[in-house]
Order: sequence, then C-alpha cells, then structure tokens
Amino acid sequence: MSVIPDLSAAVGHTPLLRLRSASALTGCEVFGKAEFLNPGGSIKDRTALGLVLDAERRGLLRPGGTIVEGTAGNTGIGLALIGASRGYRSVIFMPDTQSREKIDALRVAGAEVRLVPAVPFKDPRHYVHIARAYCESLNDAAPGRAWFGNQFDNTANRDWHEATTGVEIWEQTDGKIDGFVCSAGTGGTLAGVGRALKSRNPGVKIALSDPTGSALANYVNCGELVAEGSSISEGIGSSRVTANFQDASIDLAWSIPDQESVPLLHQLLNEEGWCVGGSSGVNIAGAIRLARALGPGHTVVTVLSDAGTRYQAKLFNPAFLREKGIPVPAWLDKSFSS
Ligand code: PMP
Repeated sequence: MSVIPDLSAAVGHTPLLRLRSASALTGCEVFGKAEFLNPGGSIKDRTALGLVLDAERRGLLRPGGTIVEGTAGNTGIGLALIGASRGYRSVIFMPDTQSREKIDALRVAGAEVRLVPAVPFKDPRHYVHIARAYCESLNDAAPGRAWFGNQFDNTANRDWHEATTGVEIWEQTDGKIDGFVCSAGTGGTLAGVGRALKSRNPGVKIALSDPTGSALANYVNCGELVAEGSSISEGIGSSRVTANFQDASIDLAWSIPDQESVPLLHQLLNEEGWCVGGSSGVNIAGAIRLARALGPGHTVVTVLSDAGTRYQAKLFNPAFLREKGIPVPAWLDKSFSS
C-alpha cells in the first residue's frame, strides 16, 4: 500500500511543470513548480507547516492550543487546515482588500476570520500588529494558550523552504538549473530556495520579480525602499525588509507591471490549461526576463504559487480587467458574452 497518514504529509512534493510558451519564447527550458496542488491550494501550506512544526518542537504550540496569524489569506488557509488536522483552533487577521474567494476558503477551513483595514505596516492598526496583540491578550488571560505564527519575521519559514521547496527543485532538475526567480511577500520562498540552490551551486542566479507598487525591487537594485504604481496581484510585494527577506542573496530584480504579467496568465490557461493566480503571472514574467538575461539553452525555474480560481472575480473578469486597463483576450470576452 502507498498511503499518507495525514494532511501534513500531503504538503509539498509538487510536480515541476514545463511552461511551453515561455520555453518557446526564450529558447530556454522554463519550469514552474505546481504549488497550487498543495492541499490548501497554495505554496503557503509549506510555510504554515514549517512554522507549526517549529513551534511544536519548541513547545510553543501545545495540544488544543490556538494559532493566531496575520496573513493575506493563503497562509491562514494552510494554518487552518493543518490546525484542523493536528487539533488546533485558528484565528486569522487579514486586510479587507483580499479576494472574496480567499476569505470564504478560510471560513470553510474552520478559521475564525477577522478582517481589518488595509493600512501601512507602520500604522498600529496593521493586521500583523493586531494579530500579535490579540495573541498576547490570549496568553495574558491563559499563559501558553496561543501561538503567533509571525510568518514575515519568523525565519522557520525560510528554513522550511530551504529544506523542502529548494531541495525538491534541485532534485527535480538533477541539479541542472541555471536560475530561479519568484516574487516575495514574506520573502521565505525566495530566500529559502535561493539558499538551497546556491549552497549546491553558487553559480545559480537568483532573481526577484516584484509587482509594481512594491518597494523590494528598488531596494535590491539601489538600496532604497521606494515604490511606484500598484498591482492587482495579492500576497506579494512589500514596503519593508522582513527578517525572511533580509539575508537573501539576490542577483537580479525587476518591477513587473500587471499589463505584462496578467496576459501571461490568460495565455497559460488558454494554451496550456493551467489556471494560476496573480503572483504566478508575476513569477512567469520574471522567468521570461531571467531566461532572456541568461540566453538560450539555460534552465530557469519559478513557482506557480496558487490557483486562478482563487481570484476568479478579478483576474478572469473582463469588466474588472477593463477597469484596471489590462488587455482582455478575445476568448475570455467571448466566453462571457455567450
Ligand atoms: N504568492 C501567493 C499567492 C502568496 O499568497 C504569497 C504569500 N503571501 C506569495 C506568493 C509569496 O510567498 P513568500 O511569502 O514566501 O514570499
């Protein structure tokens, strides 16, 4: 028999997909790691599991305890499902600008969802500060009852990506990888995968594909945390340097507009059948730029972080796209008018 004992064992070990159009366009082999196939539907199941295992090991999360986290949604979904499977309650704080689909998925996963206004990190009402304070209030009332995941600054996040995502990519490519690129929210994926690959071959190029509106590309390129524009992508970009992002070794960084990334999502769905979310579009755009920078014949890997169905009402909605000035492909328009 070949069985897995529980949900935690189903996290990770995702397939590496060949991205046909991106490969043909660049003359490189461009691969995307299918993280949308995780049980909670995103790469953040890995983060959730890495943080929970670390907290259990340290005795910070005890049987029957409460998980508290601030998240754009996906980490919360992972924590709620892993919590359900391991006997923890979860309370999730998230900004009210995130997709309806993610909020619903969190509720269905059994999390108690608290929506808070989307304000900058320096504002004490930011979802991360509110989540931390709420966790402290639970522990003041009953010491040891709750644990704050702290995905942005808890480097167990990066370490888990180094041990799992990065090692899987190395093994799936037989070590024949020239470049890795992805966007950063906490920075855990980029920093962790970067460490795993560079420790095995220091020549592997690591690149950041940053959505417009995020300050990270400017930070990498000129040391300044300044941002321009905005993006409809969710869960990526940052106005600050997190502990997970801090020590990442990054060779190249680009700021990617929605007008470049979203059409790649539409094309991928229409021509190759993969339905992925906004951050994956930014990642594919980055993979094309990295492949072009390296030149034909190289192998480039990125991650397909979650599924497009999680953003149905935005990314695949002609009226929404038009409002944002993003081209609507003829096939999508036709699907909605028939
Ligand atoms: N893509 C999606 C859809 C996400 O939810 C996130 C995390 N918020 C990321 C990418 C970024 O991953 P990381 O936090 O590891 O930088």
